[in-house]
Amino acid sequence: MKLQFWGVRGYVPTPGAEYLRYGGNTCCTLVCGANGELVVLDTGTGFCQLGDTLMQREFRQGRGELTLLITHTYWDHILGLPFPGLVHTPGNRLQIHGPDSTLGSLEMTYDGMLSPVYSPVYGLAHIGATHSFQPISTEPFTVGGLTVRALPLSRRKHSPIWAYRVEENGRAVVYITDVRYTDDQIWKQALGFASGASVLIHSAPYTRSEHVQDYGHSRVEDALDLAVEANVGRLFLYHHAPTRTDDQLDALVARYRASLASDRRPLELHAACEGDLITV
Ligand SMILES: [Zn+2]
Repeated sequence: MKLQFWGVRGYVPTPGAEYLRYGGNTCCTLVCGANGELVVLDTGTGFCQLGDTLMQREFRQGRGELTLLITHTYWDHILGLPFPGLVHTPGNRLQIHGPDSTLGSLEMTYDGMLSPVYSPVYGLAHIGATHSFQPISTEPFTVGGLTVRALPLSRRKHSPIWAYRVEENGRAVVYITDVRYTDDQIWKQALGFASGASVLIHSAPYTRSEHVQDYGHSRVEDALDLAVEANVGRLFLYHHAPTRTDDQLDALVARYRASLASDRRPLELHAACEGDLITV
């Protein structure tokens, strides 16, 4: 199994010379199974360039299949969906999994995003690809040889947030974003879910010492603590703050690597970087 980061930024896309190395697109990560299965975690603006790349393959002829796993429907996790050509190419197939909000289904939310108010597409009914929305549950399901597990991890009022675990041949990628550990129960659930994962991708926009206006995000230290406690192999900090420059991300990773080393923690730490291809 391999994974590739296509968007690692939280909140809003972040263009600019100081953000080129880690990248400025919002959340989108591709997991590729050994048999060519393609699973996309969130469709932030990173999905646009991922889609362009996939159009160089079978998707151009309308023979592509994608499974989309959506954590929640805030803009930085969905905005890229309508743009790539593969979405408008008849014959391509999209299976979309994700939580409904209390104000409407996931399908309604995507349909609203494509309404004439926001888009010339005029609604989901007009995209060319065959698409279906799958009800989300904690029941595992398979995508070819991959096993996918999902877990609700936030009680945010109208937009629940789910985490995903993708497994193949005893290896696992766990994807947790936009979660704040407000009580022990959520922490224990996340711990069990991430347990023994080869790779944990975890949102970490700010550190505990940065006092910023924020809405329910875990801190860098939460991601580290969870990865260490859950015996994760590699942790990728994700959903970087839009204000965090490349140099600042380098410094942040160096600082926390030193702290892990001085505590003799075996965890391998990285900041997720757009374009990086990781063998799991
Ligand atoms: Zn977010």
